[in-house]
Amino acid sequence: MPDSPFLGQCDCGTTAGPLGVCADYYHAILAEEQADPEMYRWHGPVVCAYLLQHPSRGHEKYLDSQFRYLQFYVDKGLDALLRVAAHQVARNNHRARSGYDMTPVATYAPLPLGETPRHFRATFCELPCSDGSFVSDGHLAYGRRIETIAEATLEAWRPLQA
Ligand SMILES: [Zn+2]
Repeated sequence: MPDSPFLGQCDCGTTAGPLGVCADYYHAILAEEQADPEMYRWHGPVVCAYLLQHPSRGHEKYLDSQFRYLQFYVDKGLDALLRVAAHQVARNNHRARSGYDMTPVATYAPLPLGETPRHFRATFCELPCSDGSFVSDGHLAYGRRIETIAEATLEAWRPLQA
């Protein structure tokens, strides 16, 4: 049964977990955080880490800014990232444009060109989901797991830098 999620392997190289491949976890997280403002605080890092672990699912033109924003998050923390994000929303509403403002992250390394990493030490498939919830042991524990995935994502990409 090669299409069984239990036996499946994800694009990122990890083995599928009880919910399936990373995409299944990602969509379950997006659904749960819609109803949980505290969990939603990690929305940005979740999206950036997921797309950088599965670049074929993202838009190539945004991956570089997502890579830099993930570095900003690991470096400066969630509160700093949320301040920048709030500023961007205001800016986008004002100018009616979409896309990322690169100013706050201009000093971070660009996304390396070339091959996509084939292994990450922490992935979405490994996130515990208990009774249908990713935050059953608290938001801080969830946040630490997202931070670990973010760090693992950066670690896997960095050796590819020329
Ligand atoms: Zn994956």
